[in-house]
Amino acid sequence: MFDINKVCIIGGDKRQVYMGLSMIKDGINSVFYAMDKCTMIDEDYSSLERAVEKCDCVVLPMPLSKDGETLFTPLSDMKIPLDSTLCDIISRKPIFCTNSRLLKRTGDYSRAVIFDYLDREELAVLNAVPTAEGALEIAMRNSPKTISGSSCLIAGYGRIGKVLSKLLYAMGAHVTVSARKINDLTWIRLNGCNPIETSEIAKGGGYDIIFNTIPSMIFDRNTLSAVAKNALVIDLASAPGGVDFDEAARMGIKAIHALSLPGKVAPVTAGEIIKNTIYNMVREE
Ligand code: NAP
Repeated sequence: MFDINKVCIIGGDKRQVYMGLSMIKDGINSVFYAMDKCTMIDEDYSSLERAVEKCDCVVLPMPLSKDGETLFTPLSDMKIPLDSTLCDIISRKPIFCTNSRLLKRTGDYSRAVIFDYLDREELAVLNAVPTAEGALEIAMRNSPKTISGSSCLIAGYGRIGKVLSKLLYAMGAHVTVSARKINDLTWIRLNGCNPIETSEIAKGGGYDIIFNTIPSMIFDRNTLSAVAKNALVIDLASAPGGVDFDEAARMGIKAIHALSLPGKVAPVTAGEIIKNTIYNMVREE
């Protein structure tokens, strides 16, 4: 059990900034490090060691790293290698991070208390909302038709598929959703959408907009040629995604791999989601 009164937030994008500012509103003193390009905050410490020393815990960014070697610090020119030096500095305090498996490979974290906030279901569920709204925004910007009246396919009925299908349905789109479980197909129908088995997507459909949420290669050459010739394709699945983008380009299909939408379209909400997830983990301790 530990209290958080002072948090050291190291690196990250606007989500981490808003998370820290929201913590300050809650009475938790947040210290920012490696965010010196952000004009919304002041950095009080010139040395990471001193910043961490003064705090009860450390929050690392989402994602932890883009190159696998340094922390993700888009708001600073500072490079913080993921190595034993960083481990020595931060491992004495509880660490809230993403991709804890990578972090643990970069130093001796055997005695560290590590919480991976990206592993939390509540974060994944709540992140589906800004992701679905961001996907809609991309669809509106790139489709020559209104969403209302458009024929839309969503591949996958997980967290994002559920939220996105509700939004599209509410906007008057004709919504087909694919799934592989009978339960899911039943819920899709009950919620007013047209259910199809994921394995049957390649049978055709004449969609205006296709959203992929399945983290597996679903839209290969065959499927693209069957369903996407005249469609806008928006792949939401994390890299490498579920769309063959080279084939799509060869076929003249507009395909967009839309990643990290919560941080791009709703950093305030995304920061609040991370903050509340951290609070939940502290409470459970
Ligand atoms: P989820 O709840 O796990 O849903 C995934 C869906 O894909 C489920 O319907 C699942 O079916 C289906 N699926 C998985 N593997 C499949 C396969 N091999 N064949 C057929 N169906 C398969 O995931 P989510 O939270 O909706 O997220 C979906 C993807 O978006 C993930 O890659 C996630 O990392 C990513 N994501 C992207 C953003 C963004 O900004 N673009 C934001 C958050 C998350 P079953 O239930 O039957 O397994």
